[in-house]
Amino acid sequence: MTETQDYIVFTLHNFDQIPQVNKYLNAEQYRAIEVVGTVLPFKVNNYVIDELINWDNVPNDPIFILTFPQKEMLKEEHYHLVDQALKNEIPQIELKKIVNSIRAELNPNPAGQQDHNVPILDGQRLHGVQHKYDQTLLFFPSHGQTCHAYCTFCFRWPQFIGDKNLKFAQNETSNVIEYLKRHPKITDVLFTGGDPMTMSASRLRAYLEPFLSPELDHVQTIRIGTKSISYWPYRYINDKDTEELLDLFRQITEAGKHLAFMAHINHPAELKTEAVVQAIKNIKAIGVEIRTQSPIMRHINDKACTWRDMWNIQVQLGLIPYYMFIARDTGAQHYFSVPLVKAWQIYKDAYRQVSGIARTVRGPSMSAHPGKIEIVGPATINGEEVLTLNFIQGRNSNWVKQPFFAEYDENATWLNDLKPAFGKKKFFFETELIDDVKLN
Ligand SMILES: *Cc1c(COP(=O)(O)O)cnc(C)c1O
Ligand code: SF4
Repeated sequence: MTETQDYIVFTLHNFDQIPQVNKYLNAEQYRAIEVVGTVLPFKVNNYVIDELINWDNVPNDPIFILTFPQKEMLKEEHYHLVDQALKNEIPQIELKKIVNSIRAELNPNPAGQQDHNVPILDGQRLHGVQHKYDQTLLFFPSHGQTCHAYCTFCFRWPQFIGDKNLKFAQNETSNVIEYLKRHPKITDVLFTGGDPMTMSASRLRAYLEPFLSPELDHVQTIRIGTKSISYWPYRYINDKDTEELLDLFRQITEAGKHLAFMAHINHPAELKTEAVVQAIKNIKAIGVEIRTQSPIMRHINDKACTWRDMWNIQVQLGLIPYYMFIARDTGAQHYFSVPLVKAWQIYKDAYRQVSGIARTVRGPSMSAHPGKIEIVGPATINGEEVLTLNFIQGRNSNWVKQPFFAEYDENATWLNDLKPAFGKKKFFFETELIDDVKLN
């Protein structure tokens, strides 16, 4: 074990101390951080700054755009409002009002996350847990609701700016364990956040160990959703509790569980440092599998060659490509969104260029209210141009693998932009969906 690495976090309050910001950014780019960073969360660390961003390539560098607020992320009138408010140094209370009204316009709670899918145990809603698909329970540990850096497109942005209404987090495992005991069909528990890997090893142990209980034999897979591999790989190399962390993971795999990292990786540049390669080796050496996922976003990864290269590098490093997502309709979606048809085209162009080993990846997929919906692609049926869609996951498992059709629309960016094909009034699942929501 070598010495631990310095860990320096930068936010709106101290980003003026980042040497590269002062060296490479012009006044307008600098101002954009202040203005946009007042509305949307901003956090970055020294590893991302020193190792991942290619500053010679700024402002077009994908990792720069992934972590630093960009002017166009706010609509012009919103940008102007905040810019003026800061210039005029209006009272904090007034500023907060402006900021909150802008945030409210950015659809802070997409896909009914807050209200739906919350399971009920003995008449009590289990906050910090979601059970949407039969086999998998999502668990938001309350101590893991931050990240090593914040992605500019993150759909969980409201929780990073302290929206107390979003009671996602759960600090009790006992209720969750009880719920799992009564639901033997659940095979997977997915720890998510934020990033659970921002927690210390001892904290993680407290959350994870109860899941090894013999009564939970049906829980075969423990998944951890994380971006730590590429935002802070030293977590698996030389943080002060790295040994303890790897021991915990070893204990879980030796207990017969499948431990899977759902690694969030957006660009091949994230997989090229010595540290990330070492981190992946250390994680895999203890029997943990790493699957990868990312949304497709304009300005960051909206080219087929980017995905092709990313999947190829992943396979070479022993990672399993898993999902390509469509960016959700929230936050700065107007800046990042890629139309569904274009996303499909990019997916197809990348997919056809990689071997079958990398074709484990599914998508492009929308995590919408009815389920995870794959864009299968355009087709012409009886002379009508349609877009073929398919459920990868369904709120009702009967919908899974059920193809359906929308009118072809080149500009649609989300499910609610699509209309059923063949003159139908509704998609097949819509009638059921209304009943289902009532039941919730
Ligand atoms: C994506 C997702 C899962 C996991 O789906 P898999 O296809 O099994 O990876 C589980 N629950 C929710 C709410 C999800 O969005
Ligand atoms: S790592 Fe994931 S949860 Fe954290 S900011 Fe990025 S997208 Fe959001």
